[in-house]
Amino acid sequence: MAEGHPSVPGPPAQPWAYAPAPVPPPPSRSRRGLWIALTAVGVVLVLLLAGSVVAMVTLLGRSSTDDAGSDEIATLLAEHTGALAKRDLQAFLAPFDPADEDLIARQTTLFQSLNKLPLAEARYEEFGATVSTEGTFDVRVSFVHRFDGADPAPVEELYEWRVTRAGPDAPLKVIAVKGGLPTDENRDMTTYYPAPWDRGRPIHVEKTPHTVVVADESLKAEARRYARLAERAATENLAAWRAGGVDAKVPQGFVISLVKGKKDLGSLYRTTKDTPIESGVAIPIPPAGAIDGTAQQEVATSRVVIDVADKYHFGNGDDRKLEIFRHELAHAIVAVLIKRGPGATAFDGPEKWVVEGFAEYFAHGRKPFTTSDRTAEARQILRSYDYQQDLPGNVSWKMEGRLSYNYWLGHSAMSYIADRYGEKKVYQFVAEHYRGAPIDRATRDVLGVPYEDFEAGWAAHLRSAMR
Ligand SMILES: [Zn+2]
Repeated sequence: MAEGHPSVPGPPAQPWAYAPAPVPPPPSRSRRGLWIALTAVGVVLVLLLAGSVVAMVTLLGRSSTDDAGSDEIATLLAEHTGALAKRDLQAFLAPFDPADEDLIARQTTLFQSLNKLPLAEARYEEFGATVSTEGTFDVRVSFVHRFDGADPAPVEELYEWRVTRAGPDAPLKVIAVKGGLPTDENRDMTTYYPAPWDRGRPIHVEKTPHTVVVADESLKAEARRYARLAERAATENLAAWRAGGVDAKVPQGFVISLVKGKKDLGSLYRTTKDTPIESGVAIPIPPAGAIDGTAQQEVATSRVVIDVADKYHFGNGDDRKLEIFRHELAHAIVAVLIKRGPGATAFDGPEKWVVEGFAEYFAHGRKPFTTSDRTAEARQILRSYDYQQDLPGNVSWKMEGRLSYNYWLGHSAMSYIADRYGEKKVYQFVAEHYRGAPIDRATRDVLGVPYEDFEAGWAAHLRSAMR
């Protein structure tokens, strides 16, 4: 969406919807697309999905396992884990059917890719219990892993192995591998599959002190070029967050995938029904154990995906590239604080003006909202409302022609908090709200004012800056 305004249809998204469906841009004057997806909706997805997996596991049945078969699977997966740890390709390939060249080639590529990743933990576990180990059967395998530095807690990625044996006493043989969860092509879903290492193509990994940049081998030059900017964004964001003084265990590093084009942007870690319109996304990932309900936290870490073919951010100078890195990494820092409780829907969770306002505040290097490129367009909209503006609610957040404006309003609210109450309050306010305090409690507890007074103060600030 480099040219044209990325308009969005009016009705609010269904709980499982991820990104809004794009509609053709108006043919009028060019407005730059500043498309950066928000995280909060992603969380909903993951949680909903978790619910459906629980149902699926129940359906598959945890009960009818025979212990001998289960032990055999446990041994197989322990050996597979050991093979990866020892970087032993032959051992890693041992469970797979040697007659299937394609399967062996894909597993070889996977092994080589995994070996390039700085993983502090990596193990294969049986997910749920296998119903029967007679004949040919399916085993759900969880790849539990944690990136060194970037992930405060391990996450899991699911595979389904089709397993058989040549005779009654023959060893188990994996004859097919599927990744992820059953997906519904009519829904946008976050499944944490495929990860960049699952696509059957070699990857390039560029490491900096606070980032792991993962890309297709074909994007090696871009990964090298942009890793420096990703590192700068990470360092700046983390320093600012630390100075804010919020006591929380947030990521100290970030796993960032670079892709080329919206199709790839919409197909990493998730499936999207329509081609996304954003330039980048920060996808919150639940911790290992979230699916079967044993995890403590809602979000373990995030995975950032950025479209380097995006003309607005990558067709110009470094400032705009930094903007998108800083925006997405800001989401990734605070996503781990999210507490929404069971049964949350798309409209629960933090106010989007807080979520995107904070990301925009970081994206612009914590400079006032008036420095944002969205300002010119926003000023016109504000004037058309005769400077009467409330903070935008979640239900009308994606209103046609107003999404970019709403990002800017969120940014202005952060600028206002920094100006009026001091910058530390920005971080405390965002953290308190992410941690589950409703917005009116967050303004009272952190800023010492009722929400109505806060909103009135912000509106006056906005008017005086823009008139
Ligand atoms: Zn965002």
